[in-house]
Amino acid sequence: MTRDELIAWVQEQKLPAFRGKQIFEWIHRGADFGDMTNLPKELRDGLKEKAVAQPVKIRLVRKSMLDGTIKFLYELADDNCVEGVLMRYKYGISLCISTQVGCRMGCRFCASTLEGRVRDLTAGEMLGEILTANRFLEHEGKQEKVSHVVLMGSGEPLDNYGQVIRFLRLLREENGIRIGLRNVSLSTCGIVPRMYDLAKENLPVTLSVSLHAPNDVIRKKLMPVANTWSIHEILEACRYYIRETGRRVIFEYALTEGLNAGKAEAEELTEILRGMQCHVNLIPLNTVKERELSGVSEENVRFFMKILEERHISVTRRREMGDDIEGACGQLRRKTINTSRSEQHAKI
Ligand code: SAH
Repeated sequence: MTRDELIAWVQEQKLPAFRGKQIFEWIHRGADFGDMTNLPKELRDGLKEKAVAQPVKIRLVRKSMLDGTIKFLYELADDNCVEGVLMRYKYGISLCISTQVGCRMGCRFCASTLEGRVRDLTAGEMLGEILTANRFLEHEGKQEKVSHVVLMGSGEPLDNYGQVIRFLRLLREENGIRIGLRNVSLSTCGIVPRMYDLAKENLPVTLSVSLHAPNDVIRKKLMPVANTWSIHEILEACRYYIRETGRRVIFEYALTEGLNAGKAEAEELTEILRGMQCHVNLIPLNTVKERELSGVSEENVRFFMKILEERHISVTRRREMGDDIEGACGQLRRKTINTSRSEQHAKI
């Protein structure tokens, strides 16, 4: 709930408005009702029966020995689970969160979509992923908190549009978690009508688009969503987004052996992006056990990158983090739902 909704709710419960403000602040600090020490004991107990303060728990944690990346397997109140990844950068701590349990987009390289979509996450659960990560950091004795958020975990954010927008608005509520939307990136496989809607929301998030191909023939081989919207339509929507928000768009491009990583594809990509205020993020494809596609050599990545650079397309190669902890989309959840419960760690 927003602060105003929570105030209205406590008033319905015949409580004074300031209780709503107090509860809101506690929730955004990651507290459970039992910890809300400035509320009377009966009120805390009553709230516990009626509501859930923190809907997200940690079922499993994996820490990378290589780079300090931490992967969380989050548990939701209905026993479903989703993944989140915490990455340390020079500029702060970035958390990659999920927006749906599973995904129905069917991208051929992705592990999150293998069993389809189970359900959408609520705005409260998305916020809960951040609050839970902050609680974990505090528990570990760390001073830092999550400063950047990427909606790039399992799920398609624009396929859960209403809750995602609600979540983004929650981030900047007064006395809330206060993460600036300029520190938030939203990644989409290209649901064109919702990209236009997002541009009109006046929420200055960075839009990332999973392009992965320079033309529709190749894109259709990788992403079923390409049968509904063409690259031309996606790029038109991106130009609109750039005009409305003044922000550049990021294109994600996973280099896939034998499909999209050759000289011809690099040249075609530079042609379609020419003159656009954008950046290309090359991702070496993470090989997923259940998927037949594979990534390319380091040499191939450099070769592809060089062609883009020579033609003045802003490009970087995504650093691979958490390679030792099944950091890629949906891998840990799959592994865990396929493993017996008794082998799992205690809950935090
Ligand atoms: N549905 C959204 C966000 C979730 S996927 C989207 O499609 O953008 C986040 C990013 O990870 C996307 O760019 C997706 O294409 C990429 N991805 C998924 N599986 C991958 C894999 N095995 N290797 C590399 N990138 C992958």
